[in-house]
Amino acid sequence: MAHPKRKWSKARTGSHKSNWKLIMPNFVECPQCHAKMLRRVACKNCGYLDGKQVLKVGEEI
Ligand SMILES: [Zn+2]
Repeated sequence: MAHPKRKWSKARTGSHKSNWKLIMPNFVECPQCHAKMLRRVACKNCGYLDGKQVLKVGEEI
């Protein structure tokens, strides 16, 4: 099994644990309605994903 060659320093472990929240959230701006949406998940506001409407959203009322 692959195994790390060295133990991570306490400083590196601490910075790794403190930084994940800045990187992990997959929020992007929707190209259609510019609302915050999850990446690779259809926008809840307009139902678009990759330029196609994949969700039915009742907005033409
Ligand atoms: Zn949208």
